[in-house]
Amino acid sequence: MTTATSIPLVNLKRQVDNHRDAFQAVFDNLLTRTDFVGGNAVGEFEAEFAKFCNAKYAVGVGNGTDALYLIFMALNLKPGDEVITTAMSFIATAEIFKPLGLKPVFVDICPNTYNIDPEKVKAAITPKTKAILPVHLYGQPADMVSLQAIADEYNLILIEDSAQAHGSELNGKRAGSMGFAAGFSFYPGKNLGAFGDGGAVTTNDEAFAERVRMLANHGRLTKYEHSDEGVNSRLDTFQAGILSVKLKLKTDWNAKRRHWASLYNELLADVSDITLPSVAENAESVFHLYVIQIEKRDALLEHLHKEGVFAGIHYPIPLHLQPAFKHLGYAEGAFPHSEQLGNQCLSLPLFPELTEDEVQAVAKAVKAFFQ
Ligand SMILES: *Cc1c(COP(=O)(O)O)cnc(C)c1O
Repeated sequence: MTTATSIPLVNLKRQVDNHRDAFQAVFDNLLTRTDFVGGNAVGEFEAEFAKFCNAKYAVGVGNGTDALYLIFMALNLKPGDEVITTAMSFIATAEIFKPLGLKPVFVDICPNTYNIDPEKVKAAITPKTKAILPVHLYGQPADMVSLQAIADEYNLILIEDSAQAHGSELNGKRAGSMGFAAGFSFYPGKNLGAFGDGGAVTTNDEAFAERVRMLANHGRLTKYEHSDEGVNSRLDTFQAGILSVKLKLKTDWNAKRRHWASLYNELLADVSDITLPSVAENAESVFHLYVIQIEKRDALLEHLHKEGVFAGIHYPIPLHLQPAFKHLGYAEGAFPHSEQLGNQCLSLPLFPELTEDEVQAVAKAVKAFFQ
């Protein structure tokens, strides 16, 4: 076994090299057709992606943030309405609300799955609450069964932030098919990534899908008639073509991610000072990230970097403590599980094209920290 020389958190070059001809063909085709926006490849990818998610409709949009933004724009909520979401996510989950006049209400995560805690959701409901936005964090689905029961009881709309969860499942149901609608990101580093920005909205509601499509295309009814003030957020033809190539490889890639995750679990099982990721019994994670917790996180991170292992942190600052949300008035200590995760989380390198030697080397470097 080699020692770790340089193992990045994510390596996209290997993926490109493995399938260079297929990607090149997409580009050549684009140069031939010059259908840069709205070409056939978009509709083809949308149909394939909807099928992959077990959803009826998919609408390609400009990026994952816009996917969420367009969902809430299409829902037509009233200014001041509240959406309950998790305190532990990427900023995009909650930055979409202010421009729409909506208010994010944060709640804490479950300490084991790191996903939004349904009991805390229930406690945060007010007469202004209109929707719940769980995130399938790190690729593990949130507890959609309990959340749907709460949504039904209080007449709330359940939306999925599926940006990290292409293909993940709960009780055999896929992310993107469990809520009323879901937002996906195809940012290059996501489990299904374009060669630039991209995103999609999935839903089983035909009228809603058409409304999102209309809003994403300048509120267009016809070429010159606009029913709403929309935005320009479409999935590029080129990106759709690349995504179609990658979608065919997706099931295999997710299996590889799970394989490396279980190898990490095995190799790190006897390290008592770290907490390994735990996946709920009825859930199937696609391991967008492999996140461990350790009290001396910053010291381990520094040690790993010295060993050439480029671990990452997702995310050091929970949303309620972000300067951007200062106006919401949350104090430190409000959400202890999210805050602990922020202080202790460490993402080990994980991508399908890792080798067994590399996973062994990462585990060895982690263990060396304790010796
Ligand atoms: C990446 C991400 C987004 C935003 O997606 P972009 O394509 O980068 O705009 C939203 N939510 C979560 C949880 C994400 O990880």
